[in-house]
Amino acid sequence: MEEPGTRIVAVSNRLPIRLVHGPDGLEIKPGAGGLVTALAPVFRNRGGVWIGWSGGTDDEDLAGLMEPASREAGYRLYPVPLSADEVGDYYYGFSNEVIWPLFHDLQTRCNFKPRYWQQYLNVNRKFAEITTKHSNETDYIWVHDYHLMHMAQSLKELGTERNTGFFLHIPFPPVDIFMKLPWRAQILRALLEYELVGFQTMRDRKNFIQCLRHISSGIRISGRGSVVTVIVGDKRVRVGAFPISIDHDAFAGDAESKEVADMAWYLHEALPNRQVILGVDRLDYTKGIPERLEAFKNALSRFPELQEKITLVQVVVPSREEVPEYQMLRAELYRLVGEINGKFTRSGWVPIHYLYRSLNRYELLAYYRLAEIAIITPLKDGMNLVAKEYCACNLEENGVLILSEFAGAAAQLHRGSIMVNPYDVEGMSNAIHQAFHMDQAERHNRMHRLREVVRHRNIFWWVNNFLKAALAKDLRAFPAVEDYVFEIPLVSN
Ligand code: UDP
Repeated sequence: MEEPGTRIVAVSNRLPIRLVHGPDGLEIKPGAGGLVTALAPVFRNRGGVWIGWSGGTDDEDLAGLMEPASREAGYRLYPVPLSADEVGDYYYGFSNEVIWPLFHDLQTRCNFKPRYWQQYLNVNRKFAEITTKHSNETDYIWVHDYHLMHMAQSLKELGTERNTGFFLHIPFPPVDIFMKLPWRAQILRALLEYELVGFQTMRDRKNFIQCLRHISSGIRISGRGSVVTVIVGDKRVRVGAFPISIDHDAFAGDAESKEVADMAWYLHEALPNRQVILGVDRLDYTKGIPERLEAFKNALSRFPELQEKITLVQVVVPSREEVPEYQMLRAELYRLVGEINGKFTRSGWVPIHYLYRSLNRYELLAYYRLAEIAIITPLKDGMNLVAKEYCACNLEENGVLILSEFAGAAAQLHRGSIMVNPYDVEGMSNAIHQAFHMDQAERHNRMHRLREVVRHRNIFWWVNNFLKAALAKDLRAFPAVEDYVFEIPLVSN
């Protein structure tokens, strides 16, 4: 029998699974990635549950496959079936055409269709119904991200009493931007129905509290530090900043492997006598890729000594390709890369190597290892894990990180990196020039500092902090099972 409160039910838009075509047809494999890895010890063999959409519109067919996948994962997976209409208006519509651009400060890209909001409410209620069915009142319901901000309220409307926490993986916008949302009051009230609301940074938390002040007078804040209590009328909600991270040791360990070292050597051999500057992004207008390409072009013109001595390897991972805006961005990137390569290429040197595909882990880590400079310049980003992964894999501690001040990661990594405003093309071009000429001693000092932060503030530290705030329990309450070993870092906020 489970001890009360030890079972965690994670709820997210997508289940952490991969659909694989095997010899016997479609198979479901448990997903990889930092969040799954970090939650695995908390879930495995403790009846952990994960609820989410499978990604298809035929979840009914997948339901039978969930059983073996759950057994393999060591925790239960329950799919939320969504129709094509629901996916259209809740996922592509409200989540990705309203909340995604608005919360990344790009309100002119928003499409505030009233029907999207109705479907958002319907689907949140659907998630709440399935969560009610597969949980009991001693469980802790941990809801993830902007697709499900209304879940706690939907649970209450169903009469389901649960202890609930929410973590927002994307930024929370400043009050002047948030107030443009036609459903601003409903969203804020819905968030107040959680017992704990977590953000990536103190800036996001501050923005949220300012929005609350805007819609209701007489809010009070009690406590200090990264988690405070907000009191609004008879409601008390704990609100905290919990910067998410990566499994540092897994990245550093894999980067050290012979496969990665060999591939890094092989890839850099093909780019002799030059520095590699690396960009890795999902195809998204928030990532600032066109501005970065402009900055690289500007650097090649203003600092001609860089020509033939620097190569930008820009990896773009295809994403949301059925959406016209993303198709336009893809076309714009091809055009810009073509223009810059057409203008500057010389025999034996192509300035931009453009990879429009997903890399396998070895290839990605090899690029992280070999790149002398990483350039990560989102216009706005909740955290940006690529920045942390680059540092973890930079084993020689000689890489330079150029980082946008609007990435959540900047709050933790600003000291070792070169900070830039991603809208400032000349400023970014200067940063490329500075990184190119940086001497080894300075590179080492900065990267060592960055790697220490990423090593200590890793994904286990993140889960630990959230659970401490949520349940007054840390990972020690979930001792390692089987051969799974993890360490609880001694640092705290
Ligand atoms: N990534 C990947 N395949 C690739 C390149 C990157 O799976 O070919 C991963 C990368 O390791 C990182 C994630 O994609 O964990 C991107 O996360 P980030 O927080 O930087 O941005 P997001 O895409 O979540 O906005």
